[in-house]
Amino acid sequence: MAHSFTIPFGKPYLTGKEQTLISESLTEGYLHGNGHFTKKCQAELEKLTACQKVLLTHSCTAALEMSVLLADIQPGDEVIMPSYTFVSTANAVVLQGGVPVFIDIRPDTLNIDETKIEEAITPSTKAILCVHYAGVGCEMDTIRDLAKKHNLFVIEDAAQGVEAYYKNKALGTLGHSGAFSFHATKNIISGEGGALMVNDPSWVGRAEMIWEKGTNRKKFLLGQVDKYSWVDKGSSFLPSEVTAAFLLAQLEFIKEITKHRVRMWNYYHQVLEPLEKMERLIRPTIPIDCQHNGHLFYILLKDSKSRNLLMDHLCSQGIQSATHYVPLHDSIGGQRFARTEGVLTLTTRIADTILRLPLFFELTESQVEFIADAIAKFA
Ligand SMILES: *Cc1c(COP(=O)(O)O)cnc(C)c1O
Repeated sequence: MAHSFTIPFGKPYLTGKEQTLISESLTEGYLHGNGHFTKKCQAELEKLTACQKVLLTHSCTAALEMSVLLADIQPGDEVIMPSYTFVSTANAVVLQGGVPVFIDIRPDTLNIDETKIEEAITPSTKAILCVHYAGVGCEMDTIRDLAKKHNLFVIEDAAQGVEAYYKNKALGTLGHSGAFSFHATKNIISGEGGALMVNDPSWVGRAEMIWEKGTNRKKFLLGQVDKYSWVDKGSSFLPSEVTAAFLLAQLEFIKEITKHRVRMWNYYHQVLEPLEKMERLIRPTIPIDCQHNGHLFYILLKDSKSRNLLMDHLCSQGIQSATHYVPLHDSIGGQRFARTEGVLTLTTRIADTILRLPLFFELTESQVEFIADAIAKFA
């Protein structure tokens, strides 16, 4: 890296227990997937989210791909989603020949604009794929009502939504399925990692087969068949036990991690209030029904020029900040594989004006003050 930052944008946090649990997994010698560390993580996540069936995966991308297989998306089937998201949300659909249909986002949460869903529905629509940006829940009651009315599946990209809630229900448990990420940039990490929340009871059996390369290995392990064999579509979606051991160390500390991140998020919100009053920036809004997890803190600037200048200014003070998604409807892949419904005015504006500020477990209040001062001094 050319520039070294006093305050990095993000910093993966290790609890100290990872080495112990990873060594244990190595000593046990059971190294492939679905061993006792995997089962323990799944049980912990089921307890945390009140989901009946969680399957650990090697990424959120994998959990999204499993969801698309579960929804039985066929070539030409359409899936409505925001353009303001990570590649994997759309790519999972495209892998099965489906067509992502991009619609605009809300100005307050930057989540899918639920009032624009209905006009994007066609006879080919099969599912709504919503993304809980920054760990703030989408308007799920409206989305689920629309899905019921039009007979659609709901899949949640809850990559950023671990330990966040909508109306006291865990994100990831509100659709037919939901996907978590434990990538090194997320709140709780295992390097690479993820989980699938299977919420529709009728999806559980198939989910277990898709997870195990399309085989009935589960029945074999239960002694219900002599040999396991190929039954359905699937892939290798399991993480190794080493990854699960890593994740278990993090899950034991999840409450503390979320608590501190939310505290730093609240502090940013507090110290930046005067600048919002002076109309220098806009802070994020959390709807009353949502309890977020402090995954990221952003500000919105007037235009892309002032955003970029502020970013340079912060950089000169040793503070690393970040923009975010290149809207998928503007990307090469988006133009090749997807369809856009309407004009995505807000998506484009947000992508041009958003600036994400440093937020990680070891961030301190005095660092937040230093960052706020640097923003205030930038005229
Ligand atoms: C991080 C992220 C993903 C991808 O997660 P991986 O675990 O790296 O596959 C997908 N969607 C969103 C919204 C994300 O933030």
